[in-house]
Amino acid sequence: MKRLFKNANIITHEGDILYHQDVLVEHGLITKVGSQLEAEAEIEDCTGKFLAPGFCAMHVHSPMNIFKGIAEDVHIDEWFNEEIWPYESKMTEEDIYWGAKLACAEMLNNGITVFADHYFKSDVIAKACIECGIKADIAYTIFGFGGNCDEELKLAESFVKEFKDHPLINGRMGPHSPYLCSKEVLKKIVEKAKELECGIHIHVSETDRQVKESKEKYDGQTPFAVLAECGGFEVPCIVGHGLWVEEEDLKYYNETTCTAISPKTYLKLGMGKGQLWKYGSQMNLVSGNDGCASSNSIDVLEQIRLFALLGKWEDQAKQYTLREMWKILMNGHRYLNFNSGKIEAGYSADFNLFDLSLCSTSPNYNPLAAILYSVQPAAHITDTIVCGKFVKKDGKMLLDEKEISQQASRCAKEIYVRGKGKSELHF
Ligand SMILES: [Zn+2]
Repeated sequence: MKRLFKNANIITHEGDILYHQDVLVEHGLITKVGSQLEAEAEIEDCTGKFLAPGFCAMHVHSPMNIFKGIAEDVHIDEWFNEEIWPYESKMTEEDIYWGAKLACAEMLNNGITVFADHYFKSDVIAKACIECGIKADIAYTIFGFGGNCDEELKLAESFVKEFKDHPLINGRMGPHSPYLCSKEVLKKIVEKAKELECGIHIHVSETDRQVKESKEKYDGQTPFAVLAECGGFEVPCIVGHGLWVEEEDLKYYNETTCTAISPKTYLKLGMGKGQLWKYGSQMNLVSGNDGCASSNSIDVLEQIRLFALLGKWEDQAKQYTLREMWKILMNGHRYLNFNSGKIEAGYSADFNLFDLSLCSTSPNYNPLAAILYSVQPAAHITDTIVCGKFVKKDGKMLLDEKEISQQASRCAKEIYVRGKGKSELHF
């Protein structure tokens, strides 16, 4: 199957604009990019549109989409301990499936072609992702209660092996955090990741209290230092949040480590500003989300828009430039194994088409400014392509959104009736 996307204005992963370009896609791959290409192919006229690599959401808990709006106007401690975890303790496989599907539908509608998930029941999530046609790097969450993770590790291993070389799914290890997993557990998980040649995805230094308690418990070590001692940075590592990073933590970063940021969550749950803005340029930032239980939407543009605005807020208007913010939106691809993120021959055909001619994005002096500060992705992204296949075309989602929202709402009602359970977890 060949498709020729004609006369598009390409926005590269670096933020450069290449006008009037054609993109040839064959068997899910971009095979040629240039002006006035000729090919025997189905023609997609992109005149006037902007074509850019798909967005990445690099820290998501997709099934938690089912909890959107269930715990509002609370601080993070209460949110975790008294609301979300008690509900999660009674979650069923069906809730996970429909919650994940709800997330996939929303992400695709917002131009997210790939995401990094962190949750248990990874096989159920993978099924939902494959059915929706979105790419997902799924970290199998491991808690290691009571210092024992053998059973969880076995399940994680078989998940990673099952999806090795799958075009849409990649598995990795998901130790929950240095505050829930003991050092022994973290070391075992890292050893397994090395053996399986996969990465890890973990929450690190989300709150100032986590950092304080880690220092008390481990003789002055920050959560980053604990993870480093356990080998966590010797494998590809997605750090969730890192909001309260300290200067001494920066030395652990290398080219396979990135930090997925979710400013909307930090604002909403009163988590403070941390040191992310101070040290972010040394932390390989990528766009995160944290899922809808805290963020209420999976929209990475909104997250990075907030990051830029908060950065500019206190007399730093010249910093947090359009190009830097665009790179944060694009960089996630570099830390995943899907051969995506560039509009160049040899890369997977995972991209979006933007219509920036709507009133809300006109006039268009600067396409990056339009996208970063004016676009509403569900409205301005008219087409989304993953592995060469349309998942959204001419402004319409190709999956059955109505069915998904109805099923998810049914599960949500049941969750509410079932009520909260006892959670063994404490944040
Ligand atoms: Zn998280």
